[in-house]
Amino acid sequence: MKRLSPESWLVTAGRPEEPGASLNIPIIPASNFALDGDRIYSRESGTAGWESLEEIMGGLEGGDAIAFSSGLAAVTAVFDQLAPNARVVLPDDCYHGVSELARMGVEKGRWELSRLAVDDTAGWVAAARDSDLLWLESPSNPLLTVADLATICAAPRKDGSLLAVDNTFATPLNQRPLELGADISMHSATKFIGGHSDLLGGVLITNRSGLLAGIRKSRTVGGATPGTLEAFLAVRGLRTLAIRLEKAQETAGRLALWLDAHPLVEHVRYPGLVSHPTHLIAASQLDGFGAMISFDVAGGADAADAICRNVKLIRHATSLGSVESTMERRAAVPGQEHLPASLLRLSVGIESFGDLCADLQQAFGIN
Ligand SMILES: *Cc1c(COP(=O)(O)O)cnc(C)c1O
Repeated sequence: MKRLSPESWLVTAGRPEEPGASLNIPIIPASNFALDGDRIYSRESGTAGWESLEEIMGGLEGGDAIAFSSGLAAVTAVFDQLAPNARVVLPDDCYHGVSELARMGVEKGRWELSRLAVDDTAGWVAAARDSDLLWLESPSNPLLTVADLATICAAPRKDGSLLAVDNTFATPLNQRPLELGADISMHSATKFIGGHSDLLGGVLITNRSGLLAGIRKSRTVGGATPGTLEAFLAVRGLRTLAIRLEKAQETAGRLALWLDAHPLVEHVRYPGLVSHPTHLIAASQLDGFGAMISFDVAGGADAADAICRNVKLIRHATSLGSVESTMERRAAVPGQEHLPASLLRLSVGIESFGDLCADLQQAFGIN
């Protein structure tokens, strides 16, 4: 049979195949297995539930996937591969938990850290020559800047170095970092993969076998294995990822234009807008512009906070990638004070465009 398209793969992969089997892998709450079989103890030998999640994710991005208890557990396993005194480079705009993890390692003398602007392609290319870990995030959180991954991945690199891409905002449907030359693609499965704000999970995908073994070892020894229920829910979420994302990003594209024309909005950051500074890279590198929009409102932090209090359909909440739209003033989050004070980050869900506009309009105080 011809290779399946991603939306068909999402629906069909990772299911039991034996005659008479349930179509879905059941939730099997098991730590311990009777000896002399394939599985012994689930932290070490895995469960059918999380292997199903790994099969689906690996197939989507062209590598082997390893599932974790959270996105940050997955990131931790990457940093765990570094030798002492490694040189790590992080984007200036990235998930704050990753920044915090990297900062803690510096404090403990584990590695050196420098930071580069997401769109400083020449800087990343130069850093590739003498760095041990290039950690990229694209589109970045929350400024939605797109890195020129193809150029950065093609740059000559230090022997044994790692190039990892946080692919959470793009999802495997919009971007496949391994195809562009990255060693590792990372996801917080908590977001678009789960898609319902009801689980924590993380996934790494790599096509380098030595790295795969090292990462798996880190998970086994570090114990950051996914929960049984969470793995089930993540697979359940993946079944509808294609239609959820298609709907959400179609609405996001329309909302970005609507916000861009709104008198109370000063600046919209959405990679799909031609005015976006990295729109051209986004258009050539991504298969879709995603469901995240950041925008600055007039009136500063107070006005932005009022809008967050006023929204009714959109939930004032921190996380993203779910069926329900969520919004937050990012500079209000501890450690994020460097961001524009009135920047609102909106994760567009699958509600109707008209209802979302009406909700924002009433939240802006316009009837
Ligand atoms: C949420 C998130 C993470 C961290 O994932 P958790 O599942 O919360 O541990 C990392 N990167 C990005 C871009 C995220 O949005």
